[in-house]
Amino acid sequence: MNNPFKKEEKIKPKVAIHSITGCAGCQLVIYFIKDKLLELLGEIDLVAAPMIKGKNDEGPYDLCFVEGLVASEEDLEHLKKWREQSKVLVAWGTCATHGNVPGIKIFMDEKTVEAAVYKNRTGLKKGLKPLTPTPIEEHVKVDFSISGCPPEEIEFLRLVKHLLLQMNPVIYNEPVCVECTKREIKCLLEDGKECLGPLIRGGCDALCPGVNHGCTGCHGPLESVNIPQVMKLLEANGISEKLVKQRLQKYAGLKFEKLGVKLK
Ligand code: SF4
Ligand code: SF4
Ligand code: SF4
Repeated sequence: MNNPFKKEEKIKPKVAIHSITGCAGCQLVIYFIKDKLLELLGEIDLVAAPMIKGKNDEGPYDLCFVEGLVASEEDLEHLKKWREQSKVLVAWGTCATHGNVPGIKIFMDEKTVEAAVYKNRTGLKKGLKPLTPTPIEEHVKVDFSISGCPPEEIEFLRLVKHLLLQMNPVIYNEPVCVECTKREIKCLLEDGKECLGPLIRGGCDALCPGVNHGCTGCHGPLESVNIPQVMKLLEANGISEKLVKQRLQKYAGLKFEKLGVKLK
């Protein structure tokens, strides 16, 4: 990837933060950074951020963060436009990277899910043309994927700073267990508690085990992990394969299936 931030001095890179189907939590992570974001605004030009700005550029952008997944034709149209307009496109958050909770629909009867959500199909937004819920990389080329529901502010700051410093951005890629070890948190598996940490990409500083709650997998899979081996480890600790598979559907079912785990 050519670093788009290699510009003549004094021209700030144009950055956009856009959203399709999602809950807005991933955008809020960025806006809640406050002081560090204000500092960053001295070095970037935030030309589009519809959640907090009234006037937004249509592009072109040097860097565009996209929150949310593709769940309708409208989402797809927006996504394709932003891809065309952006030198670097980032899938920001687990909806964008893995399809997240709406992706559960893939494992269930579509009509049953819609009936449960909308009571009856007339409750669907008028004119909305639903598509199978899918992560954005199923539709366009993504330059960087940063998962998390929501992701951590440090991952946003690190990516932007790496680009500003003309470095190749590095996305954190270790299991949650590594952060547990660093924080000297006693492993929950030892107490017979459920935890998916060995399968999941960290970056959250072992947030859930840190408060005595098992990791439920909101960052999605660590791609390099030996999944069958970890399943055996979890089973040896009393966590059935059936339960693990049920949990894996929640945030990144589609991705786990691509990695060879049969979830249906
Ligand atoms: S990844 Fe989580 S926080 Fe982000 S938009 Fe989706 S549901 Fe909301
Ligand atoms: S508590 Fe969970 S994340 Fe932490 S070391 Fe044990 S299995 Fe890994
Ligand atoms: S511990 Fe697991 S569920 Fe909790 S924030 Fe981290 S990745 Fe998400």
